[in-house]
Amino acid sequence: MLDRVLGYARDHRDEYLRDLLEYLAIPSVSAQPDRARDVKMAAMWLSAHLRDLGLRAEVMATAGHPVVYAEWSGHDHHRPTVLIYGHYDVQPAEPFELWHDEPFKPTVRDGYIYARGADDNKGQHLAHVKAVASYLRAEGTLPVNVKFLVEGEEEIGSPNLGEFIAAHRELFACNCVMISDSALFSLTQPVLTYGLRGLAGFEVQVRCLERDVHSGHYGGNVQNPAFALAQILASLKDEQGRITVPGFYDDVRTLGADERAALARIPYGEAEVMRETGALRVFGEPGFTVNERRGARPTLEINGLWSGYTGLGSKTIIPATAHAKITCRLVPHQDPDKVIRLVQDAMRAAAPPGVEITFSDSRGTPASLVSLDAPEIQAAARAAQAAYGNPPFYELEGGSIPVVHDFQTLLGKPIVLLGFGLPGDNIHAPNERFAVACYEKGIEASIRFMAEL
Ligand SMILES: [Zn+2]
Repeated sequence: MLDRVLGYARDHRDEYLRDLLEYLAIPSVSAQPDRARDVKMAAMWLSAHLRDLGLRAEVMATAGHPVVYAEWSGHDHHRPTVLIYGHYDVQPAEPFELWHDEPFKPTVRDGYIYARGADDNKGQHLAHVKAVASYLRAEGTLPVNVKFLVEGEEEIGSPNLGEFIAAHRELFACNCVMISDSALFSLTQPVLTYGLRGLAGFEVQVRCLERDVHSGHYGGNVQNPAFALAQILASLKDEQGRITVPGFYDDVRTLGADERAALARIPYGEAEVMRETGALRVFGEPGFTVNERRGARPTLEINGLWSGYTGLGSKTIIPATAHAKITCRLVPHQDPDKVIRLVQDAMRAAAPPGVEITFSDSRGTPASLVSLDAPEIQAAARAAQAAYGNPPFYELEGGSIPVVHDFQTLLGKPIVLLGFGLPGDNIHAPNERFAVACYEKGIEASIRFMAEL
């Protein structure tokens, strides 16, 4: 059965490509109110496409852009059910003048499809749709039950998705969630992401005076809030980059020896960080490698810092207030509320005399971690190895995907994060692209995953 389905996909590659180009031509930019009709059209296009394949598909309303939901189930209730997540909305394409082709007139050139949304995420989730199409058209059946949840608000932060999933929890009952919204290491090297960092952040204001005052009249007799804030912030880390907030690392998960060995296999290190960022040197917590620091260690960063006069020339004042925006990237088992409390307590304790310190805009999402022992992850690893020719790298991703946390808490099932794109695909940038080979390999990986599952 597997060979016939893979053969069907190969024989219909031109048709599958044409369908993707048609889907990409719909400018479903979720952030732009004047594109709302196009966003709806993309949802209608996808649901009609899924219905044509024989799935029960519908466009479901949310408080924002709709969700496309579809399902196919056979008569055998012992089959596992996979819920495939994707998003049909895209980032704005501006500035248009930096595109070599028109972002919503998809162009195939040198083996790449150029269009907004080609990689992120229409090409990636349509690969799963085409895997399902290949099974149903070639064999009339699937080895698993399949559900699709394709949302239209990912690029604006999925503001309604958590509530939507919570309200339709039975509809999304499944054995695992498959998400393809990340990248391969190369066309022959797949990556399975098994952890994502969380985030905790807030804004701080330090106030010492009622208003900005003359630095000659008052200098020497009052506290300067910019200095006070600098002292407070400097106390949060030592000179080697270790965070000195009491209790900050208490709940951090320790890496096993196997895990450290697996992370060490990924050919990404100090040279890559320096090349990609232009950093003068690599700097981070001692005792950990670049890959370990990126995904398995928490951070504390100042994202913005301001006080006093920053315009042209000079202005001899002592400013009344100083401000900073602070975020921490969190790793598994850290509680965002606890981290925020610990950092704020340390900042209060470090405040010099004559300082009023206030915090605002506190928010957080915990990290996510998938067990590598889950049979669904192992099925994905075997499928990826068969499709791309090498066993996957197991990676801890430094960034956050809030929807993964929603899925974990609301559904409690393993999340398979297997990306089909390439690192150079210019997502969120001009000239976004997706290799035709990535699309075809993605279809193959998805077909194999369903067979393995
Ligand atoms: Zn995106």
